[in-house]
Amino acid sequence: MTEENAHAPGADYPEIRQEVAKLCARYPGEYWRKLDSARAYPTDFVRDLSDSGYLALLIPEQYGGSGLPLTAACAVLEEIHRAGCNGGACHAQMYTMGTLLRHGSEEQKAKLLPAIASGEIRLQAFGVTEPTSGTDTTRIRTRAVRDGDHYVVNGSKIWISRSEHSDFMVLLVRTTPREECARRTDGMSVLLVDMREAVGNGLSIKPIRTMMNHATTELFFDNLKVPVANLIGEEGRGFRYIMDGMNPERILIAAECIGDARFFIDKASRYAIEREVFGRPIGQNQGIQFPIARAYVQTEAAAAIVREAASLYDAGLPCGSRANMAKMLAAEASWAAGDTCIQTHGGYGFAEEYDIERKFRETRLYQVAPISTNLILSHIATHELGMPKSF
Ligand SMILES: Cc1cc2nc3c(=O)[nH]c(=O)nc-3n(C[C@H](O)[C@H](O)[C@H](O)COP(=O)(O)OP(=O)(O)OC[C@H]3O[C@@H](n4cnc5c(N)ncnc54)[C@H](O)[C@@H]3O)c2cc1C
Repeated sequence: MTEENAHAPGADYPEIRQEVAKLCARYPGEYWRKLDSARAYPTDFVRDLSDSGYLALLIPEQYGGSGLPLTAACAVLEEIHRAGCNGGACHAQMYTMGTLLRHGSEEQKAKLLPAIASGEIRLQAFGVTEPTSGTDTTRIRTRAVRDGDHYVVNGSKIWISRSEHSDFMVLLVRTTPREECARRTDGMSVLLVDMREAVGNGLSIKPIRTMMNHATTELFFDNLKVPVANLIGEEGRGFRYIMDGMNPERILIAAECIGDARFFIDKASRYAIEREVFGRPIGQNQGIQFPIARAYVQTEAAAAIVREAASLYDAGLPCGSRANMAKMLAAEASWAAGDTCIQTHGGYGFAEEYDIERKFRETRLYQVAPISTNLILSHIATHELGMPKSF
């Protein structure tokens, strides 16, 4: 890092970054490659992160966490990705916990947050997306019907990540049919599902093998009983609660993309200096230098917006458009850096042992999830530029 970069705002939380980097050094490329080929969950890595308190960073001190701002959590995820590791196995705990923190009852928070902070229980899963509704969340069909002290849940969800590795799941359901609601965003509710009790008792999980190792699954609900005591906040207001968590989710994932981009740029520039062809380093050719320099510029610009979005969020200011822009720019920067990294490495970029192709597959996800680029552009066009909504 140059002196100028060492003083750039991106170098915030240097102690946290150093400690995270040390932890990640215990999980080198070989560890991730083995898991990747078996599509297995990085249990040891997640446990280590939990034990070190990083996954409880955003939980207030009164509940056993560190009570740090989102900018600190961004630093953690960025460093994880910069080191070649993958926070996708556990990043959700940082933001799903927020739904409970902001909208849960005192009793729910006192019961769960300290156990999440200590790593005793995991809240890694959140179930929103459904096969038939896609991005149009207001059309979800999973229904929860009240029956005495319980809700009875029927329906299905798709792409629900980490559900096999989580003790609880934040689940969005319809409690009132869409047709009976004044607004399409009304009538949805958030339930906390205890996965340890639910699986085999009304909930079944089917893993989906994807192009990267992401522990994602399809869920089927068949008369699953969830205690009414597990309703978060008020019935019918669930859509708003889920929306509240979307800005931090987008910002945190953007920070991961910045980490990925830095991983690719570090690797590409090192290789460009070391690799000699035609009797000189390939990095002496501007055809190799310029794409790497361009990826760096693109990454620094995206990182500045990520920091801005996180700072707005931490200050309690509106940050929806900045969070969306940060996610889009960072995901595009990491993809461009990955593509450049492969090109710089020639044939070696495709060899598994270089970890580039694995990271390339992993970082592609973030142009689709948690929100796709088109939907971000639609948000900017309508919210920032005042154009009419197309849907
Ligand atoms: C690996 C993985 C992990 C995931 N993890 C989770 C999870 O843990 N929990 C969860 O709830 N969800 C999860 N998701 C779901 C993810 O959030 C969705 O895939 C994403 O929001 C897109 O929804 P969709 O796949 O249904 O695409 P669709 O909504 O079917 O859209 C398909 C394409 O059409 C475009 N499109 C749709 N409507 C418009 C429009 N009006 N204008 C322009 N373009 C449009 C979209 O941009 C997209 O490119 C995950 C997905 C993946 C792939």
